[in-house]
Amino acid sequence: MADIVLPIIDGERCTGCGTCVDLCPAHAVELREGHAAITRPEDCDYCGDCEDICPEGAVALPYEIILAESVER
Ligand code: SF4
Ligand code: SF4
Repeated sequence: MADIVLPIIDGERCTGCGTCVDLCPAHAVELREGHAAITRPEDCDYCGDCEDICPEGAVALPYEIILAESVER
């Protein structure tokens, strides 16, 4: 089974405004103790909306880099 890659939320930057909670189309985010958290990781479809709309730049989507196979010459 492939590893699940999830958005990373910077707890230092997150102000708990709730915008990502309201706008996440998959309802994968909730506020916990004043900060956003991915509480339903299985529902996150990695759309990137939370990264785009966060006014604090607190969300980052890590990307898995897959190197193409080298081409034989
Ligand atoms: S939109 Fe950004 S600052 Fe607001 S709750 Fe979500 S992660 Fe935190
Ligand atoms: S990447 Fe998309 S589905 Fe996942 S938590 Fe962010 S807004 Fe929701």
